[in-house]
Amino acid sequence: MASDTPEHSLHPDTLAIRAGRETSQFNEHSQGLFLTSSFTYESAAQAAAMFLGEVEGYTYSRFTNPTVAAFQQRLAQMEGGERAIATATGMAAIQAIMMTLLKAGDHIVSSQSLFGSTTNLFAGLLAKFGVETTFVDARDLNAWRGALRPQTRLLFLETPSNPLTEVADIAAVADIAHGHQALLVVDNSFCSPALQQPLRLGADLVMHSATKFLDGHGRVMGGAVVGSDALVEQVYLHVRTAGPSLAPFNAWVLLSGLETLGLRMEKHSANALRLARWLETQANVERVYYPGLESHPQHALAMRQQQGGGAVVSFVVKGGREAAWRVVDAVRVISRTANLGDVKSTITHPASTTHARITPEARARAGIEEGLLRLCVGLENADDLAADLRRGLD
Ligand SMILES: *Cc1c(COP(=O)(O)O)cnc(C)c1O
Repeated sequence: MASDTPEHSLHPDTLAIRAGRETSQFNEHSQGLFLTSSFTYESAAQAAAMFLGEVEGYTYSRFTNPTVAAFQQRLAQMEGGERAIATATGMAAIQAIMMTLLKAGDHIVSSQSLFGSTTNLFAGLLAKFGVETTFVDARDLNAWRGALRPQTRLLFLETPSNPLTEVADIAAVADIAHGHQALLVVDNSFCSPALQQPLRLGADLVMHSATKFLDGHGRVMGGAVVGSDALVEQVYLHVRTAGPSLAPFNAWVLLSGLETLGLRMEKHSANALRLARWLETQANVERVYYPGLESHPQHALAMRQQQGGGAVVSFVVKGGREAAWRVVDAVRVISRTANLGDVKSTITHPASTTHARITPEARARAGIEEGLLRLCVGLENADDLAADLRRGLD
């Protein structure tokens, strides 16, 4: 479905189920799974026309595949973008964007609180190829402005951040980028299009770790880049050449994930809000971080640009690492794992896991206290989850 068809006016819940369908000659009702690396041609002339791009069609699954194309079209419509390109993982999506849009000598300004591998990609891999990154506090618009250089081509942010749920003002940062002829790229993995559509707020590209909420059941890896036809075409040309393409089987799993995304994100947010409110009343809890709480310093901004608080709730327990580990060790329902974006609730102690490799000083600067715990609230019953946390808190 092209973006100018009547389907464009459909509600996101409808698009999640109806948009982007590729059927075979059998007119199957469900989405078919096309496990084929290549496709055949009717004639030598058709093969020639396809290779030149004169006629549309499938040639090779590194370029695209009917199942992958269906996932791309559906996600593009849900994000309000013209086009999407799927990738093997979320990190492959970020790498594809950077390799496509930047060259040696260019400069990135990025929010400092990022997924760990994204920080390593910017500070390590891209630095090796002559692309420098300045990291700023995503909440501080003057810091974004102050970090711009003549060589700045791209601004990058994650919102809300992990684990402290700091919220960046997407529309304001987009204005700063565009005033400087730079592009804004938003990692929308935490909210998904069900809760936040950065393209509608002025972002130029959205990227996803589809591994998280888009799948939602912890089954497959995947990624995607969504935006305008012109920008995504460039990223597509990189992906089909360099090869970090999404596997058709993973696209097929992700398509069914998208069908329940809206329902799941609504319940993730409702459960997370209930637990966050409950945690605020606990004597052994010092502080709770959740954008859906009135006590969150950026609650108003979060509620303006998001349609829900999301699944991630962090909180600081009294008694430092020892008390925090007691909570982690006492859970019987919640999974002890750093992964997130699953129907199953998970808990992690960031200071000794996701943020263990940085120095204690850098951790302190980032606000990763020894008593901090991060929950990704799943779809279980909220009372059961509270009871599970109470075991280690009391
Ligand atoms: C997981 C994650 C990534 C990386 O995605 P992979 O699919 O693991 O490669 C990027 N950004 C955020 C916010 C993530 O949570």
